[in-house]
Amino acid sequence: MNELFMNAYHRLPVVFREGQGAWLTDIDGKRYLDFTAGVAVNCLGHGHPELVEAISRQAASLIHTSNYFMSDIAIDFAQRLIKACAPAGMKKVFLANSGAEANEGACKLARKYSLKKYGEGRHRIVTLQGSFHGRTITTLAATGQDKFHKDFGPFTEGFTHIPGGDEAALERALDPSVCGLLLEFIQGESGIVPQPPGFIKKAAKLCAERDILFMADEVQSGVGRTGTFLACEGYGVQPDIVSLAKGLAGGIPVGAVMAGEKAAHVFEMGDHGSTFGGNALAAAAGLAVLRIVDTPAFLNEIRRKGEKCASIITSWKHKQVKEVRARGLMLGIDIDTTSWPVLESALSRGLLLLCAGPNTLRLLPPYIISDEEIEQGLEILKGVLDGIKQPQ
Ligand SMILES: *Cc1c(COP(=O)(O)O)cnc(C)c1O
Repeated sequence: MNELFMNAYHRLPVVFREGQGAWLTDIDGKRYLDFTAGVAVNCLGHGHPELVEAISRQAASLIHTSNYFMSDIAIDFAQRLIKACAPAGMKKVFLANSGAEANEGACKLARKYSLKKYGEGRHRIVTLQGSFHGRTITTLAATGQDKFHKDFGPFTEGFTHIPGGDEAALERALDPSVCGLLLEFIQGESGIVPQPPGFIKKAAKLCAERDILFMADEVQSGVGRTGTFLACEGYGVQPDIVSLAKGLAGGIPVGAVMAGEKAAHVFEMGDHGSTFGGNALAAAAGLAVLRIVDTPAFLNEIRRKGEKCASIITSWKHKQVKEVRARGLMLGIDIDTTSWPVLESALSRGLLLLCAGPNTLRLLPPYIISDEEIEQGLEILKGVLDGIKQPQ
């Protein structure tokens, strides 16, 4: 494999051939319970019949038209998506292919909004330390983690990182040079870190007063992951822009920049585009996901399953577990040891886990996971943690 693929990221030593529900099977026939869902992407698990049906039917009928021509299925998807995001005040959508591309679109939208209204010099975008917004040069500039800020400069100019939860720093940073505030309400990559509600309320208020666009990066937390369609609903605020991707089409690449009233009419003819963005195949998959996920009963189940996971883990009172943070089926577990060996050990026992930082495990099970599978997976995790030798 190493002679085929660039050595760009950590990969666990396994090769998968197929998946069904919450299970994956490797090339030797060994089965694994999947608590990663392809990093919050396979939200309906593997081989979900309605998703497979929608993709197969669409593939046979029309796959792609480009931005020059609309497809009927993309219209249906956009309508359904705007409806799902209506509680957050979203009015229009731009379809892209990934989280980074959606965030790029969001940043362009904020800069153009400000330029049209106030002219040059108001282009800065404030983000949070510990954030993750993507791997392109601009979204790396937005990402507030130093480990990403080497080797690839110069980065896009105009990003400021402030500590999450720090209202005074926020108030200072949102000065007259700023057009947008971009943040994850619940930071994913850096350890499932929810922002305090007071901080979010303050951010929404300051942005409204200063006419700064409030942008929620819901690439990981959106599409039901936290038990509401968008995580921002749980905070009772309406952002101006929401970016989505990961779970939105259950595994087919798609991203979305959603805009509320302020930002919905900013882009003009020729301002933005994306060859693959929102093609018919992705739209069909996205529509199938929304029809299943965006119902009160289904979202309630995500919340219930997430609470079940958290209460089981807490009930262990395990000496390795320092803290559990759960929002729906988005869980972070701070452990008293390095996370990567835990992932490897879990893999060998048939459980797939993620980490988020050096000492945090990240659980992102598919929404369709059953109660028995939750119990089974967590039992394996407990066994792995039991097997860790205490540091001397
Ligand atoms: C994964 C992620 C991204 C990047 O998405 P890609 O599809 O990998 O470009 C951006 N923001 C957040 C919060 C993410 O979790």
